[in-house]
Amino acid sequence: MAKPTNVTLCSFCGKSHSEVNRMISGPGVYICDHCIELCKKIMDKELAAEAKTDIGSSKIPKPAEIYAEMNKYIIGQDSAKKSLSVGVHNHYKRIQLSETFNGFDEDDELRDVELEKSNLLLIGPTGSGKTLLAKTLARILDVPFCIADATALTEAGYVGEDVESIILRLLQNADYDVERAERGIIYIDEIDKIGRTTQNVSITRDVSGEGVQQALLKILEGATCNVPPQGGRKHPQQEYIQIKTDQILFICGGAFVGLDKIVQRRHGADSVGFNHSQNNESADLHSEVGAAQLEPEDLLQFGLIPEFIGRLPVTAVLNELTEEELVLVLTQPRNALTKQYTKLLAMDGVKLKFQKEALKALAKKSIERGTGARALRSLLEDLMRDLMYDLPSRSDVSQVTINAATVESGKAPSLKKTSRKKAA
Ligand code: ADP
Repeated sequence: MAKPTNVTLCSFCGKSHSEVNRMISGPGVYICDHCIELCKKIMDKELAAEAKTDIGSSKIPKPAEIYAEMNKYIIGQDSAKKSLSVGVHNHYKRIQLSETFNGFDEDDELRDVELEKSNLLLIGPTGSGKTLLAKTLARILDVPFCIADATALTEAGYVGEDVESIILRLLQNADYDVERAERGIIYIDEIDKIGRTTQNVSITRDVSGEGVQQALLKILEGATCNVPPQGGRKHPQQEYIQIKTDQILFICGGAFVGLDKIVQRRHGADSVGFNHSQNNESADLHSEVGAAQLEPEDLLQFGLIPEFIGRLPVTAVLNELTEEELVLVLTQPRNALTKQYTKLLAMDGVKLKFQKEALKALAKKSIERGTGARALRSLLEDLMRDLMYDLPSRSDVSQVTINAATVESGKAPSLKKTSRKKAA
């Protein structure tokens, strides 16, 4: 029997009002709750499929995308951000090529071109953002990440951390998903401290920096590591997890104090007999010119062994952050410290304000400590401790302004009292 014409019917499934829970009308059309739910399921499925082809999976983010994402968290260091974006993009392209992608015809001569593994070397002073860059990259790419300290490493057989334990840490951070770990990023800090010529920092171990470089070389090049799942010392009866390191991206970082002098000296020598038009006197490594001037032989002079340098073909130099940049570090990134404090106090109904001069004073103090942006956190923590303690239990304050005197001489910040009406 035909349905009466004055009954509203879903324009998609044809069900009548009485057969469904809700009917939503549009201009001349109706849709029932069943169809809305179905549409939602279809949309969710499609969106999930799209997300899967995004960062961290088969679609490799373009250098410009990586760079733009890094900009949200990292202040300055423009040339380093660009080199890293390209280096990381190429690294994951290489992985894709080895696994799935084969867009080259059989007779294409490019088909046989091998893409070499390119690990990255970051050179820059303490607190300039080396670790932050590596960590941010891992987050952008959604791959597991771990940090190791080169000075804690030993050659196999010595007591101390050996290279396998770094791989184990990465595996742990990947929730023991071997495949995911094999595409992770490992940041090795203080790589400049394992130079051949530098004094060994450890007094208890007699391990040469060169030996550690050799041990690291193995995993940097790509090897299969037998990782004891519980960590610690290896035991013959223990079952190992095998991890291949040829797709793991290694980012090595160090301050390389004195490297600028080496570059300078070489350039001085170069200019003898050559017709150099540029001024070679200012081979400052902490500038973009310095990055371009750096040659592998300078790293060799510094004490890295040739094979090791060969495994770190992408080099980026980071600058010491200036006062203006440190102010931006305090205020600009998504998770900037001042933003975090502002949010915390806003939850107590207190508006937190930092005067520009106060931020500058914080930046100046941080520079005095000589640890780049690292000091900012502790300086700000010291500054905010009492306020963070008091304010949540006070209802008479509506605004706090941190001024230069608060930072410089510990003078109390200015408080704006809540109007009586509001406090009551
Ligand atoms: P490095 O590894 O060069 O010694 P880090 O990356 O550990 O320095 O920096 C320490 C902290 O300082 C970071 O966690 C971050 O909060 C801040 N920081 C350092 N450099 C930058 C930067 N360029 N942009 C934003 N924050 C930075």
